[in-house]
Order: sequence, then structure tokens, then C-alpha cells
Amino acid sequence: MQPMDVEVTGPHMVAGLPDWEFWSRPMADELHAQPVNDLIEHTCEDCPCGPTVEATHREDGSIGWTYMHHSLDGRELSE
Ligand SMILES: [Zn+2]
Repeated sequence: MQPMDVEVTGPHMVAGLPDWEFWSRPMADELHAQPVNDLIEHTCEDCPCGPTVEATHREDGSIGWTYMHHSLDGRELSE
């Protein structure tokens, strides 16, 4: 259910966070942090997990949006 006119790049892996993958949508100024191998499939559009959105102020003065997705197994609670 991804609109065809919005480019999605990823996943990008981050060292130290093997259970998370990061998808970016440059045209929409969005970054999605999604749990790997979760019980559901996460999407960048109307994800059923109800991701938390945070505004990110960048060095050039623009604002990006970080979507923190919620894993169904609650892995983000056990740091
Ligand atoms: Zn999600």
C-alpha cells in the first residue's frame, strides 16, 4: 500500500541496533525506524502499530519527521 510517487529507500542498518532498520522517504522528509522481524509488517503509510512521530530540527533549518514504530513484542522497552 505504498503510493508509487514517493520514493522509499532502505533499509539502512545502524551499528549497535541490530533489531531495527531505518527507511527514509526523502521527498516527504520522513525517517522510519522499524523493528526487524516483528509479528506484523510495518509500512511507511498508515502503519497499524501507530508510530510515534517526532519533529527533527536539522542543521540547515529544515524539519524532518522521525517515525518510531512500535514492535508488538515490546523490544524497545528493554534497552
Ligand atoms: Zn509500524
